Amino acid sequence: MHEATIAHSILEIVTDKYKATPHSRGALKVNIIVGEFRNVDLESLQFAFDNLRPLYSGCAACQLKAELVEAKALCLNHGHRFSPRYNTGFQCPDCGGPIGKLICGEELDVIGITLEAESDKQ
Ligand SMILES: [Zn+2]
Repeated sequence: MHEATIAHSILEIVTDKYKATPHSRGALKVNIIVGEFRNVDLESLQFAFDNLRPLYSGCAACQLKAELVEAKALCLNHGHRFSPRYNTGFQCPDCGGPIGKLICGEELDVIGITLEAESDKQ
């Protein structure tokens, strides 16, 4: 259900954009980025999105393009930059220290919406 909630949120953003754009026929594509620490299953999200999109005006033909963002962190002890992994306890591979600061990996953002203009097709 987590993924369905996210799909609804994305579709709300797309439909708002569609309604706010005069002379658009509908949305063709929405690009999102998803941090790997958000625990979003992209396949489930895609499935939910495809099932829900006919319910939103202007979204019936909208494609979801999701890009997974790898988590990056700086370790607490020395500021080493590393990719935290579950199987290593999210520890720094250089010094074994814990995560000091997460640089990326928690995003969940719409980064682009492509609308079809009225004049594109006739
Ligand atoms: Zn370190």
